[in-house]
Amino acid sequence: MSYEVKPVGYVRSCFKEKFAIPRQPLLAPAAQGCIELLAPFDQPETVIGLEGISHIWVIFIFHKTLESAPRLKVRPPRLGGNKSIGVFASRATHRANGIGQSAVRLDRVEAGRLWISGIDLLDGTPVLDIKPYVPYADSLPDAHNALAEHAPKLLAVSWQQPAFLLAQEHAQRLQQPVIELIEQCLAQDPRPAYQQPTAERIYGVQFWDVQVRWRYLTLEQIEVVEVCLA
Ligand code: SAM
Repeated sequence: MSYEVKPVGYVRSCFKEKFAIPRQPLLAPAAQGCIELLAPFDQPETVIGLEGISHIWVIFIFHKTLESAPRLKVRPPRLGGNKSIGVFASRATHRANGIGQSAVRLDRVEAGRLWISGIDLLDGTPVLDIKPYVPYADSLPDAHNALAEHAPKLLAVSWQQPAFLLAQEHAQRLQQPVIELIEQCLAQDPRPAYQQPTAERIYGVQFWDVQVRWRYLTLEQIEVVEVCLA
């Protein structure tokens, strides 16, 4: 038996590529975007009541990592990329049916558009459903996860002065918290854990229409070296 699902909308996101997207939602509060709803869900009726709700669950398709054969085990980057665990013990993008779920902040509601932040979603992500976060049921203070007990340790992020000034200009132009976005995402240590970067190796990623380049001064310290239009 199979079931057909159709998107109710698509995510417009600051993240234009998978690299450097935080590995879970709400780790980078400055990561903003919106869900553009499709007909018939773009009508005002569908969002009645959402104005009193601070967070929503976004159910979506990992459309850029869909595979024909399901994986039974995965190697999460968080475990260094060399330990495999069962797919159902992981939030990996390669999974049965390619379905993801993220609890994100709901900042503003309009008919046809939900403005969200703290996202870990790529631009163009198809959204299958949206549900309210229900604090008394969804927040579980006694829950534990031996594989991911704590949020990952943050790296220190510093700037070369010209890069910082350009990031300020782009923040002004885009009316977006570009500096916070860069700092929050890079502090998560985007590099694959098996890579041992030298101080000469330059990494890069696009946020909005801005290309950001950085290097590792040490394994705990990142320096942003360049910010320019992509
Ligand atoms: N919070 C979700 C979950 O638990 O289902 C996602 C967790 S998954 C580990 C987060 C990663 O998914 C991000 O770091 C990003 O690289 C990747 N990602 C986000 N949107 C995607 C998409 N549409 N297709 C493929 N990968 C995506």
